[in-house]
Amino acid sequence: MSYTLSNFPAQVSAFDQQILQPNILAWEKAGIQPQSLFSSAAEHGLLSIETPCANGGLGGSYLDKLAMARQLSHHSMAAAFAIINSQNIAARLSTSAEDHHRNILAPALRAGELVGCTALTEPHAGSDFAAITTSAQKKGDGWVLNGEKAWITNGANADIIMLYAQTDPDKGWRGIASFLVDAREAGFQRHAPFDLIGGAVIGAGGFSLNNYHLTDRDMFAPPGEAFKIAMTSINGARTYVAAMCVGMMEHALEVASNYSKERSSFGTAIFDHQGVKWSLVDVYAHIQGLKTLVQQAGVKIANNEDAILPAALAKKMAGEVTLPALTTCVQAMGAHGLLAEHLIGHHMACAKIAAFTDGSTEMMNERIASYI
Ligand SMILES: Cc1cc2nc3c(=O)[nH]c(=O)nc-3n(C[C@H](O)[C@H](O)[C@H](O)COP(=O)(O)OP(=O)(O)OC[C@H]3O[C@@H](n4cnc5c(N)ncnc54)[C@H](O)[C@@H]3O)c2cc1C
Repeated sequence: MSYTLSNFPAQVSAFDQQILQPNILAWEKAGIQPQSLFSSAAEHGLLSIETPCANGGLGGSYLDKLAMARQLSHHSMAAAFAIINSQNIAARLSTSAEDHHRNILAPALRAGELVGCTALTEPHAGSDFAAITTSAQKKGDGWVLNGEKAWITNGANADIIMLYAQTDPDKGWRGIASFLVDAREAGFQRHAPFDLIGGAVIGAGGFSLNNYHLTDRDMFAPPGEAFKIAMTSINGARTYVAAMCVGMMEHALEVASNYSKERSSFGTAIFDHQGVKWSLVDVYAHIQGLKTLVQQAGVKIANNEDAILPAALAKKMAGEVTLPALTTCVQAMGAHGLLAEHLIGHHMACAKIAAFTDGSTEMMNERIASYI
């Protein structure tokens, strides 16, 4: 089926209703990221949003992706993050100068036949990205990679990996380059996915590279450039993570307010007890505040303007208000709020994930402090 940008929001809703809502609890219970997540997302056009029309995509903007992030996170931030991470690789490869990237890999990623991911983090280096030690050594007309990556979204299923490696440890961040690694090639060894407290659908896992060979065409960004590109594109990621937190809070508030208006205690609806009502007003206020920050950052990113500060503010706020807001919603529902069917427990695990992915709350403080 072919989709256009104008029916994209309807396709996101259809995916949410037909695929995500009926399956998310079972996937989480099984602790898996099913490969079918990507083929189903592709059938609804979700993996093509940022690929230009001329290259076979929907030609959407960053703001379209942001809206999708928020909407899908009503039922699973983990699934939204997994889909968007693969979509990001499809979009980047769709305009690559390399035929193989543009004409073979990108269409397969958009079709959900292949899964993409981005790999910076290593077992010993997360926040301190410049400390990565996965090595890339020049050999003839190619490179040999050795090292280990950990905590990679889609690590459970990824085939095509935008990977960052060190070409010269003496140069620090200036020695880091990015490469396109194909998990189907020799020298790639996938590890078992991490067994998380929740949010298993994100498929977080790791892998090792043992004398993995690639050619010069698979160097994506050279030393000196790769780190800068990563630090620029991370503002987009920080902002859609914050949008995902808006989505989770919106859903939890809807569930809690509906429930507390129907149930009563001491002769009145739970919602009408001032203590409960005011606590839900606080959640509503946090949602509105975070939405404003997300919108500010999103517009700057869409316009290719400097978004370091607004993205860090949105991500910091998301990391700090989402989990308390979710527990407030559970509290308003009493024991009933603990039932898995409401997905608030799933959201709680994902809210904690959101406080780490693409930079922890403390790293946001570091970014923001430099503007004060
Ligand atoms: C589910 C999940 C998915 C992820 N997906 C990806 C992915 O797709 N690709 C990828 O590359 N990475 C991914 N990550 C990794 C993520 O980017 C890291 O978890 C994050 O950068 C933090 O690194 P760390 O967990 O190693 O914590 P550490 O760097 O070890 O830090 C531990 C704690 O110390 C704090 N801390 C560290 N330094 C300072 C300091 N100077 N001042 C104050 N506090 C400090 C941190 O904020 C944190 O709270 C994912 C993580 C999770 C949980």
